[in-house]
Amino acid sequence: MLDGMLVGLARRLRLMGYDCALPRPGEAGPAIAWRARAEGRVLVTVSRTQLERPPVEVFLVPEDDLTAQVRAIVRRFPIDVERLAFTRCSRDNTPLKTIPLNEVITRIPPRARELITEVRRCPQCGRLYWDGTHVERMRKRMREYTE
Ligand SMILES: [Zn+2]
Repeated sequence: MLDGMLVGLARRLRLMGYDCALPRPGEAGPAIAWRARAEGRVLVTVSRTQLERPPVEVFLVPEDDLTAQVRAIVRRFPIDVERLAFTRCSRDNTPLKTIPLNEVITRIPPRARELITEVRRCPQCGRLYWDGTHVERMRKRMREYTE
């Protein structure tokens, strides 16, 4: 569970495969910590004031430095990035489903069509994910995070 200041971090972590919840609209302060507790999540925050809130494991990340934040998470909560990368929607955290390429071929840029073998779709928002050069760059960056 990440606090509302960490939306960018949550998106990055979801792409790496982390199950990341964010506050719902209007959900703030202790309510976030209570939901983290109810859902068995660790509360990730930049704010020390969260430490005074209800009993839930809190993990502080550095402020204003996305790379340092990701590194801190990877060290504290290691995951198999190679296996889990690009299995969750970065927007809403929903696990992606692999779908046949021909079902969505018209939504994929012509240049990408020749390069990809697999497309994944978010059952929640319909967003499509496929391997491309940006994914390769991101995988490389993810490996660097875990070194
Ligand atoms: Zn989605």
